[in-house]
Formats: sequence, structure tokens, C-alpha cells
Amino acid sequence: MASLKVATASPEETFAVARALGQRHPEGGIFYLEGDLGAGKTIFAKGLAAAYGVDPEDVVSPTFALVNRYSSGKRTVYHVDLYRIENDRELAELGLEEIEGEPGLVILVEWAEKLGRFRRPEAIVIRLETAGESTRAIEIIQLQPEERH
Ligand code: ADP
Ligand code: MG
Repeated sequence: MASLKVATASPEETFAVARALGQRHPEGGIFYLEGDLGAGKTIFAKGLAAAYGVDPEDVVSPTFALVNRYSSGKRTVYHVDLYRIENDRELAELGLEEIEGEPGLVILVEWAEKLGRFRRPEAIVIRLETAGESTRAIEIIQLQPEERH
């Protein structure tokens, strides 16, 4: 397991950390964003999306839609928000398992704590914690060793 801890002092810094993480994974991947309301999950999602060519202005919390889909020229990015999900049946209805099979895909999941048995071991987990008004403690955890390309 690899884990990295960083602290950021502004939303812009969090965005930059996220974009750098995405750029380190040109093959795409599944990213789980965990942390309380206002911790910076959506800002982190914007930075990741930007790394894959999506305009971060288009990235808004899909709290009502549950799943947003963005396409940049080369990529499809799914942005999922589980805030309103209450049980396994609702999770199953999202169809995450179908999406996850596609190669080269980027999947961003806010409130990934709620995934339960739907968690994927290959996902990169990002835990965000509010440490002060404009300070966030961010931990990036990769359970499985990186594949060599
Ligand atoms: P979440 O999706 O976790 O609910 P958002 O990304 O929507 O959180 O919002 C994070 C809020 O915290 C924004 O209003 C942002 O301006 C503020 N903020 C302050 N400092 C930071 C920081 N260092 N990193 C990220 N967001 C920050
Ligand atoms: Mg959000």
C-alpha cells in the first residue's frame, strides 16, 4: 500500500494537487473522494477532471443528478456523488459496475465512504479533512501496487 499526505492552504492548491495526481495516471482510473461537507471533494474532482482535459468549470457536484458525465476530446469522465444514497439497492441502481468495466475510463466518486461492497480495490482513495478555514489535510492512498506501462 502506498500513501501520501499533503496539506494545502487554498482551494487552488488542492486543485493543483489533484491535477498532478491525474497527470501521474494517464491511463485513467477510479478515484474515491472521502471527507465531510466542504472538505474539498468537488474541488479535487475539478483538478482531476482538468488533468483529463475536461474544463473544471463544467464540473459541479452531481448531488441531484448523482452521476455526471463529461467528455473531453479524448476521454470520458464520470463524476458520481453518493451523498443522497441511502442503501445498497440505490447504489446498485447507479450502474457503477457497468461503467467500471470500460478501459481508459476516469471515475470520480464523492462520498465514496458509502460504497460498501461496491468498493473496488484498484481505486485510489483520497481522504480530505478540514484542518482550518483554508487548510485541508489530504491523504492519497493506493491499495494495489501500480501497474507498469
Ligand atoms: P465538498 O465537495 O467536499 O463538499 P467543495 O469542494 O464543494 O467540498 O468545497 C470546499 C470548500 O472549501 C470551498 O468553498 C473552498 O473554497 C473551501 N476551501 C478552503 N480552503 C480549501 C482548501 N485548502 N482546499 C479545498 N477547498 C478549500
Ligand atoms: Mg461536493
